[in-house]
Parts: sequence; C-alpha cells; structure tokens
Amino acid sequence: QVTDTLAKEGPSSPSYDWFQTDSLVTIVIYTKQKDINLDSVIVDHRDDSFRAETVIKDYSYLVHVALSHEIQEDFSVLVVENVGKIEIVLKKKENTSWKCLGHPQENHNSFIPKKDTGLFYRKCQLVSKEDVTHDTKLFCLMLPPSTHLEVPVGQHVYLRLPITGTEIVKPYTPVCDSLFSEFKEPVLPNNIYIYFLIKIYPAGFFTPELDQLQIGDYVSVSNPEGNFIISQLQELEDLFLLAAGTGFTPMVKVLNYALTNIPSLRKVKLMFFNKTEDDIIWRSQLEKLAFKDKRFEVEFVLSAPTSEWSGKQGYISPVLLSEFLKRRSDTSKVLICLCGPTPFTEQGMKMLHDLNFSKDEIHSFTA
Ligand code: FAD
Ligand code: NAD
Repeated sequence: QVTDTLAKEGPSSPSYDWFQTDSLVTIVIYTKQKDINLDSVIVDHRDDSFRAETVIKDYSYLVHVALSHEIQEDFSVLVVENVGKIEIVLKKKENTSWKCLGHPQENHNSFIPKKDTGLFYRKCQLVSKEDVTHDTKLFCLMLPPSTHLEVPVGQHVYLRLPITGTEIVKPYTPVCDSLFSEFKEPVLPNNIYIYFLIKIYPAGFFTPELDQLQIGDYVSVSNPEGNFIISQLQELEDLFLLAAGTGFTPMVKVLNYALTNIPSLRKVKLMFFNKTEDDIIWRSQLEKLAFKDKRFEVEFVLSAPTSEWSGKQGYISPVLLSEFLKRRSDTSKVLICLCGPTPFTEQGMKMLHDLNFSKDEIHSFTA
C-alpha cells in the first residue's frame, strides 16, 4: 500500500464524506492540500445531478452523484484553507432523513489529470452589454443560482453557442467590471456575474453571433483553464504588462490582484499596443488609475496613429522594451506578462530572451 502511494505520480487522491442534520446535507471534500481556496472547487447542481470538481495542481477530483432526495436551488461553499477541507452545504427540500447521498454518476470519485477531463459547460444568461470602444463590448453573464464558479486570476473559459446547427466554442478571459471594482465587491451577491471584454469582428465566425444575443438569452460557459499561477506574483517587486489589443483582458485581473494583494509590489507598468487611439480599451480608467495609484504607470503605443498622436508609435521592438523594462536592481523580483496577436507574443518572447530575462520572469498568455 505504502509503496503504491509513493510510486504514484502527482498529488495523493482526495476523498469525500457526507453528513446531515434535519434540514441540511453537508458534503465534505478532504483535498489533503494546503493551497486550496474558493476558486479550487466548481459546483453544479442540475435536476437531480450534483457535480463538484476540485482542481488540485494539474489534477481534477470529481464528486458526481444523482442525489437521493430533492434539494433547494441555492447552496453554500466553504473552504478551511489550512487543512484543505471543502464543505458544500445543501438545503433539503423536505426535512426527512437521507439513507444515502445518491447514486454514482460518470467518473464519480475519480482523480485524473485535468487534461484528460472534458470541459463541463453550464448555461449563463446575458444580463448586460455595454459599448467600450467602437468594436469592443463589455458583456455581463449571470451564472445559474445552482452553480459555484470563480475563474482564477489569469485563466480563461470557453464560450459555446450553436451556430448553423453546430456547437462552436471560443476562449475568452473574464475581467472585473471595471479597474476600480474592488470597492464594489462587498455589495455583490457572491460572484454570480462574469464579465468579458470582447471585440466584435464583422467578418468573424463567433463574435457576430455573440453580438446578436439579446438580454436574457443564454450562452454556455465552460470550467476555467490556463497555466498562470497566482504564486508567480508572490514577493514580486516589479510587474511589467505587455498587452496588444484584446490581449489586455488577462492583464485586468492580474493588475487588480497585484495592486491589492502583493505588499512587496513597487511598480506595475503596462505598455498597451493598439492600432489607433479609438481602439484603446478603458483608456480613461487606466489614466485615472495611474493618477490615483503612483505604483501604476501606463504607456500607449500605436501602430496606425493619426498625425496628431505625439506618443510612442510602431510595433513591439527591442528599443521600446529596453527603455520600458527597467528593473530596480539586479536581484529584484520581476515578472513580465505578454498577451496579444500570435506574432506580437512570439516576437515579444524572443526580444525578452535577447534582453536576458529568464524563463521564470516571463509569462505569455496563450490558449
Ligand atoms: P474569427 O472567425 O476567428 O476571425 C477573426 C478575424 O480574423 C476576423 O477579422 C476575420 O475576418 C479574420 N480572419 C479569419 N480567418 C481568416 C483568414 N483565413 N485569413 C485572414 N483573416 C481571417 N478575444 C476577446 O475579444 N476577448 C477576450 O477576452 C479573449 N480572450 C482570449 C483568450 C484566449 C486564451 C485566446 C486564445 C483568445 C482569446 N480571445 C479573446 C480571442 C477569441 O478567442 C477569438 O479568437 C476572437 O473573438 C475572434 O473570434 P471570431 O470567431 O469572431 O473571429
Ligand atoms: P489588433 O489587430 O487590434 O492589434 C493590436 C496591436 O497588436 C497592434 O497595434 C500591434 O501593435 C500588435 N500587432 C498586431 N499584429 C502584429 C504583428 N504581425 N506583429 C507585431 N505586432 C502586431 O489586435 P486584436 O484584434 O485586438 O487581437 C488581439 C489578439 O489577442 C487576438 O489574436 C486574440 O486571440 C489574442 N488574445 C489572446 C488571449 C490569450 O491568449 N489569453 C487573450 C486575449 C486576446
């Protein structure tokens, strides 16, 4: 037994248990890990099917049962971080004693590499759609009340719509509703809204269909994916963000998280590449943030400016980068995040290596 456990690759398997009172059923997941939080577990209850997926490093642990009795729509999720315990508290519809939790469904009690699990989707309702630039909009989707899902900083989800009879999926990166949203959060009911900044391409396949949705219509949203790890920000002194066009979207939560949660942070600098001034997403918010928080600086670089533009011009280049990426000292902890069109990201990565930044100091956002 001991040899088996040691020989097995990856973290050791979680387990689960359940108990009840007259009115509640509590499912407890023992993850055996310390770095567990509310975004580690995704819960969906639909008809009588109950599904709780816990993500532990690159693995996924699934509790998936057809519940033996009916429950109410809402439930709560609690995490005891220091012991890695997750509690999901369900409310019984009737105060009867349950003999069993339910019947196992597909992959119940399995612990498998995340890459081998399919993406799970739930239908979310379009709540609002606001113009941000001439072609980019802020979409707000509402999760069903029977879902607990928090998208981790730096991760994306897939949106799915039926288009001419086929289900089409594309990745999008959730953002905050604004760069100043930390002040609003306490009044929101626990994270039921997901916001996206999405550019509509008139000749595109997916985005024109998304843009056709009316308030109240549904779009399916997947579980999160992505390889950004929040610990990359721990003890950071200088954070540099290189974003092009909608490549700005992963930077939004990274920026907010770093400014609010990293005490060692000295400077966050965003270099934002766009074609024209009209294409700059949240320009006035970025300028306001730079004014309010002296740790934050923003520089706009345009590749197709009008003759009136007096700021920086052109594509990403070694000259622009070497001027911009000034570390405080040889030993200061630095992270450079990059996101944009593929040629932008690829050229940027090469330039950063040539400027002697190490692999650990660079994170590029890709699918
Ligand atoms: P597509 O059909 O893919 O077309 C896009 C553009 O390319 C159009 O102008 C089209 O005319 C042109 N085009 C298509 N095919 C060709 C061709 N063969 N030759 C020349 N031109 C062509 N986007 C966002 O707006 N917000 C986000 O938060 C966001 N997050 C992302 C996260 C990840 C991880 C990744 C990988 C991408 C993300 N994207 C995001 C981009 C998004 O996934 C889509 O690629 C984008 O919305 C375009 O989809 P579409 O189907 O409408 O356009
Ligand atoms: P865009 O066409 O408006 O271009 C924005 C800027 O990107 C340009 O001003 C230029 O500086 C730079 N750029 C464009 N083409 C370049 C090239 N060939 N070489 C060097 N630099 C170039 O950009 P957009 O339409 O907003 O597209 C944004 C891209 O970001 C999309 O391809 C999208 O898929 C990608 N994206 C990826 C993620 C992710 O991987 N996590 C997230 C969001 C967006």
